[in-house]
Order: sequence, then C-alpha cells, then structure tokens
Amino acid sequence: MATAYLKRNGILNELKQTRAPRAKIEDVLTVHSPYLVDTVMIMSELGSGGVGDAAYASPDLLRNSLLAVGGAIEAAKTVNDGVVKHAFSMMRPPGHHASTSNAAGLCYFNNLAIAIKRVLEKPHIKRVTIFDFDDHFGNGTSEIFYSDPNVQYVSIHEYDYEDQGIGHYEETGWGEGKGTNINIPLVDGTSDVSYQSAIDKIVVPAIESFKPDMIAVSAGFDSHYADPVGNMNIDSSTFWYIGQIIKKLVAKHKMRGSFSTLEGGYNPFVLGPAIRALLDGLSGKSLPELDDQVEREVHEQLTDTNENIIQQVLETHKQFL
Ligand SMILES: [Zn+2]
Repeated sequence: MATAYLKRNGILNELKQTRAPRAKIEDVLTVHSPYLVDTVMIMSELGSGGVGDAAYASPDLLRNSLLAVGGAIEAAKTVNDGVVKHAFSMMRPPGHHASTSNAAGLCYFNNLAIAIKRVLEKPHIKRVTIFDFDDHFGNGTSEIFYSDPNVQYVSIHEYDYEDQGIGHYEETGWGEGKGTNINIPLVDGTSDVSYQSAIDKIVVPAIESFKPDMIAVSAGFDSHYADPVGNMNIDSSTFWYIGQIIKKLVAKHKMRGSFSTLEGGYNPFVLGPAIRALLDGLSGKSLPELDDQVEREVHEQLTDTNENIIQQVLETHKQFL
C-alpha cells in the first residue's frame, strides 16, 4: 500500500530503484548466534508457531527475512559506493527488536545492525551513528552495539515511567562503548514540538560530537498519531523534519551518506505519506502539505515533562558529549 501511494504520487519515478538481493547466512551470522539462525530456519520449515516474544513463523519467514537483510545491506552499499547519498530500504520484516540470540516484536534478524557490520568492513567507514525514531525502544540494536565504541545508538521512543522497563536514559553503554548509547525516553502522547526539541538539543549535538562516517536510520512510523500500535502524537511533518536534519548533517560533516530501513508503522493509510515526508526531507524538498497535518491539541504539561526528560538525558550524557 505504501508502494502504491509513492507510485501514485510520482515519488518512485524520482528515485533510483533497486531490488533487494537475498542475504547470505554468513551475513546474518555477523550479528546473530547460530542458535537464532537455526531457529528461524527450523520454524520457517514448520511454517507456524512462535519464534520469540510476539514473533511468529510463516512458511516464507526465512526467505522474507533474508530479503529484508539483503535490502539493508544493499542500501548501505549503494551509499558507500557513492551511487546515491541517501538510501531507503522499504522491506519487512523489521529488525530493531531482534537481539543477538532472540527474535521479538515481529523482528527476526536485525537488518540495520547486519548492514552496519558489513559496511564497517569497508575502507573509509570507521564509525556509524544509528538514529532510531520508531515508537518503540530498539532493544535488539542497543544490545548488539552496547559495548562497541564505533557505533553510536541514539533512540527517541515512548516510555512508561511507571513500569520502568528497558530503554531508560541511564543505559549509556558499556566498557569502551560507554556514552555511545543514548536513549531519549519520552512519554505517551508526545507531540511534534517535543520530538523536534529532542532532535535539536540531543540528537544533532550527539551526532556532531561522535563524527560518524555514515548515519543509519531505524525508520519506524508507528509514532504517528493515527498508528494503532504506538501512542505518540506526531504527524508527517516530524518525519520530514528528521529527513532534512539528516541531509544537513551529512552535507555539513562530509559524511558518506545515510541509509534507512523500515521498522514499525502499522496504519496502511499513513505509511505512504509518512515515508514520503522522510524522503522529501532527505532529498532537500520543502515540507509537503499532507492530509494528516491537522491541528491537534498539545498538552503543555506533557511538553514540560518531556523538556524535563530532555534535560535529564543531557545531564546523564554531559561527560560524553
Ligand atoms: Zn515500533
């Protein structure tokens, strides 16, 4: 449906398109344990059943998962080869909940993490920053790179301070990777103003201080106000805002480029316009006027709570930034 939207609005014609090749098992093993690879292979053969927490098997699970990994690798390669400055892999299943040994939350293999491992093998790519703006915390990606000093993980996500689960800003990395894990846990109902504030005050300075050669984006659109899964309150204007910020950072710091992989986003009517807004930002176009950009109530108290959290995150990371 998202592809049909992009086609109907002439967006696909403006882009260089390429097909995702199927990744090899060796690619997957750069990140995941043989146990997880074997589990996905066996469960795919069985064709149904649970593979992990909220992760289910289907007969084409292995094939689709390898294509999604292949799409991410190809996106990073295309950018590294200088074919394009920014690439977007529109493949599912998503990946950011898949950790070294566990499939979870509709994620089986961590597409973005595998693509990063592969691109870090290339000359000129020494450091990569991940920006994860999916509604949910990318626990898998965070775990994979938690002690890696060459990969910075920055995530804005919905967080329930009453439950106090993982994804808290006190999780900052381990050993040589201390300070490279930056969680920005905002509250349920967060609006565009707080997302943009977190981006300006934390994401941009964090990337500028880390000086990556490439930005890898976990592009999840379930933080949209009309998403049935996420509980945030942003519209496509924030996805455009993210796209243009990434473009500016890449140009200003002469990075190789950026590549994005599709994570969440479960309203089929919203996904197309949301992806379009991100792509418009990445290609230097002005903010597109889209139907979802309607006036919505912004609770001042909630904005204040988020500003307070943003300050806490800055305070936590002041020794690293
Ligand atoms: Zn999500």
